This record gives sequence, C-alpha cells and structure tokens, in this order.
Amino acid sequence: MIIDYHVHTNNSFDCKSCMEDMCASAFEKGVREICFTEHFSVRKGIPTYNYIDFEEYFSSIDKCTKDFKDKLIIKAGLEVCEPHLEKNKLSSVLNKYDFDFILGSVHNILYDKLRNFIKEKNNIDAYEGYFKEVYALARYSEIDVLAHFDLLKLYAFDTHGNYILNNHKEIIYETLKILVDRNIGIEINTSGARSSANEFFPSFDILTLYKDLGGEIITIGSDAHRPQDIAEGFYDAVNLLKSIGFKYIFTYSHRKAHAIKI
Ligand SMILES: [Zn+2]
Ligand SMILES: [Zn+2]
Repeated sequence: MIIDYHVHTNNSFDCKSCMEDMCASAFEKGVREICFTEHFSVRKGIPTYNYIDFEEYFSSIDKCTKDFKDKLIIKAGLEVCEPHLEKNKLSSVLNKYDFDFILGSVHNILYDKLRNFIKEKNNIDAYEGYFKEVYALARYSEIDVLAHFDLLKLYAFDTHGNYILNNHKEIIYETLKILVDRNIGIEINTSGARSSANEFFPSFDILTLYKDLGGEIITIGSDAHRPQDIAEGFYDAVNLLKSIGFKYIFTYSHRKAHAIKI
C-alpha cells in the first residue's frame, strides 16, 4: 500500500502543478493515500509568509476528494516553516481549519534562507547551526511530524560536503530524544535521493538512532512538486525502514496518528 505524506501543489509558492494533476499521477502510480503539505508560514519576511489562500486550498481538496472518490484518500496538511517561532500567531491560523496533518520544517535560520546561511561557514558550523534550529523546532513547536531532518545537505552538499554524524551527535541525539518524548514523528523524505547528496532525508544513521531511542512514528513523503515525482523511491525507503526494524508507517486524520503495518 503506497502512501505519500509530503506533496505540494500550486498552493505552494514554489510549485506550478495543480492538485488534479498530482492526484491523477498518484492514482496512476498506485498510491492509495496522499496528503498535501503546502508551504506556509506566519513569519513576515520569509518566502512562504501567508502565501496560501486557505479557501482555495480547501475547495481544491473538496473537489479532488469528490473526483477521486473510491480511487484515492486525500488528506489536507501543511508544511510550516519554523513553527517554533511566532507560535501564537500560528496556532490561531491552524485552529481555524480542519487539518489532518502538520509537518514542521527548518527552511530559514531567523531571516536567512539556508542557502545564504551556509555562506562563509565551514562544514561543521554550517551543519551545527542548522541542527540547533531543528532542535528548537523539536522542543517548542506543536506539529505532528518533523520534515526532512537533515535537509541542509540539499543546499550544502556541493559546496560543503555531507556532515559527519559524530561532529553533531549531541544535538542530534537530544533532538531525537525530545521528538520521542513529545510524540512527534519524523519523515523519510525521498527527495534527497533526487538531490546531489543522493540519499534520503534523513540518513540511515539518524533513522537508526531514532529507532534506538524508541522512536516509532514515521511518515513517508516524496516532497513532490511535479506529478512524476510522487511516490518516487518509496520501494527503497520502505525496505530501508524494514531493515532498521520499523514495523509501521503512519497516516493522520484530524491530526491523530494511525499505524499501518509495512
Ligand atoms: Zn521542506
Ligand atoms: Zn516540502
């Protein structure tokens, strides 16, 4: 059973594909359930700030739910940038709508995009700075799942190389422990395999550490911005999860988690 829990449409600032086309591709690829996770932020000055039109988003969800009835289960989600910042503003927006699923992401460090943040930093400082922000997100935000735990390698790989886990073990360990304690999941994001880093977000080592610390909640997402990327790499991702010892992946309804055996 293929389930894709990280998909964008033209409700996101960086995506041109319409929801109908994403659903059609999902259905063709044998996806059973899809969750749209549009970029959103309440933080003035960053690219995703207030970008989405919620009325339009939910009317597309309703239309596709009808059009793909009996073919595809469609869930309404968001990918919120830095949900640990301006929390009150964020929760007043989230409480207005009936979301199934909220992903949290670090795409900016304060007002610096990751791409800029790493400029003139060495490998260790760049990754440590990023992981510190991920720690703050894990500690303070009200989300269901943390997206692409080691996303920085998407931006840093070509110029700074990959990170060495041992250089950041303490902050990564503390972050994973907090996620487990707070019942927040992590995702395996297959878009990493399409980047020059050529491995999932996060890496095998982080997934293993999460499992060793008692982490169970995992979602799988393609982070597709184009129809052809939906569910890409899922066969390998599920095998990787099984090899680490994960027994379930998770779906969400009205922000409640459900385990699905893999
Ligand atoms: Zn993201
Ligand atoms: Zn995304």
